[in-house]
Amino acid sequence: MSDCLFCKIVAKQIPAEIVYETGRTLAFRDINPQAPTHALVIPKEHHADAAALAAADDGLADEVLKSAHEVAVLDGVAEGGYRVVFNTGPGAGQTVFHVHAHILGGRDLSWPPG
Ligand code: AMP
Ligand code: ZN
Repeated sequence: MSDCLFCKIVAKQIPAEIVYETGRTLAFRDINPQAPTHALVIPKEHHADAAALAAADDGLADEVLKSAHEVAVLDGVAEGGYRVVFNTGPGAGQTVFHVHAHILGGRDLSWPPG
């Protein structure tokens, strides 16, 4: 997807602070962090949202979740607890249509989210 922001990060055409990488996934710091830990985990392959990623049914969704946990471990928030959020669709606040898991931690997180 030539006009996709996160595909450009995968292609290293746009810089990002990468925190973890596997063969099929990439994790980098959110540019507008909402918590001490706020990273995004994406599949390198373009899928618009979590539903499309799940529908691909090829193990990639599992890898994104494993990478999400690894980022939490690396940032030291896995034991205390962290949140994984997939905003899915405009009504839920999705603004970048390349699926991404927000990894949030390092502070108390209220529920329900806004
Ligand atoms: P969402 O609203 O769930 O689609 O989340 C998109 C996220 O991408 C937001 O939290 C933005 O702060 C973040 N974001 C946008 N552009 C960049 C970028 N160039 N590098 C890192 N994060 C970004
Ligand atoms: Zn993309």
